Amino acid sequence: MKKTKQITASVISAAHHVYNEPRSLEYDDDRVLVKVERGGICGSDIHYYQHGRAGMSVLKQPMIIGHEFVGRIMEAPSGSPLKIGQCVAINPSQPCNHCELCREEKQNLCRNMRFMGSAQFFPHVNGGFADFVAVNPHQCIPYSSEAEAKTIAFAEPLAVAIHAINQAGDLTGKKVLVTGAGPIGCLVVAAALASGAAEIVATDISERCRTLASQMGASLTVDPIVTTTTGQWQENGGYFDICFEASGAPAAIASLVGFTRPKGRIIQLGMGATHVEFPLGLLLVKEIELTGSFRFINEFETAVRWLENGQVNPLPLLSAEFPQRDIVYALETAGNKNLAAKVQIIF
Ligand SMILES: [Zn+2]
Ligand SMILES: [Zn+2]
Repeated sequence: MKKTKQITASVISAAHHVYNEPRSLEYDDDRVLVKVERGGICGSDIHYYQHGRAGMSVLKQPMIIGHEFVGRIMEAPSGSPLKIGQCVAINPSQPCNHCELCREEKQNLCRNMRFMGSAQFFPHVNGGFADFVAVNPHQCIPYSSEAEAKTIAFAEPLAVAIHAINQAGDLTGKKVLVTGAGPIGCLVVAAALASGAAEIVATDISERCRTLASQMGASLTVDPIVTTTTGQWQENGGYFDICFEASGAPAAIASLVGFTRPKGRIIQLGMGATHVEFPLGLLLVKEIELTGSFRFINEFETAVRWLENGQVNPLPLLSAEFPQRDIVYALETAGNKNLAAKVQIIF
């Protein structure tokens, strides 16, 4: 049976203007109706807003933005273990579960992925920046009502960070470098610390970002412009066991091969530059592994648990919060790297 609910949604047009719009949400009764409470603005939301595209995903039609959000259950299908009033984090991933990659348990790489708030495929998949959304029951990850919504709203970016950690293998006792201390880089720092890394260095050209990285657990932060320090990392074949590239900056990407020990691993998380000059010869003679990291699989549940039990405290990263009516101002603030790390919307 189809149901209808009047909602207010934050929509981005193909010309990348953002506005709040009354809509009627139509959903089947096997869906869960969630009253959205909080949503975090992600780098991809900012890219859509500023450029009409995020990486290779280009806006071609109006789409509700947002994929980092939490809320409370208003309606659940009969027979579902989900309860009315329950606090839930919403996993924005909707893999097809049929394709070859899904069957190989690589659902993050699903060719038919319906990721909420993403223009990767056409038609685009609406996101969660609305006062109500209808989702699949398995997208709802309940969390304790004692945890704060503003904390659990970091589940999606933390899941991205934990997936990157899992791409790196065992971090116990390892020396780790994170280039780029935006929200993702800082969450990688926190996740690496929680995963037993012995030493975690973070680099960023912004002093504000370096301070945040320290608060999130970096043992040392460095301005990459200061070559006296970065030069030392290249001595004796390289210093770090594992490097996480979270800036997307060509200079950072090219520098990591020099900083990494032979047989070390580089995990690429930062989007941005699509073509980069890369010291391939050095990668070859040091047998360095270069690995991409995209979204997450089961790490979403792990992220909810880590936030719920305080294993990671993301709140130093929360710079500002705005009511939904100020969505444009919130995006402007989030897009100004001198002002803000994570910005959240209250619905
Ligand atoms: Zn995100
Ligand atoms: Zn699939």
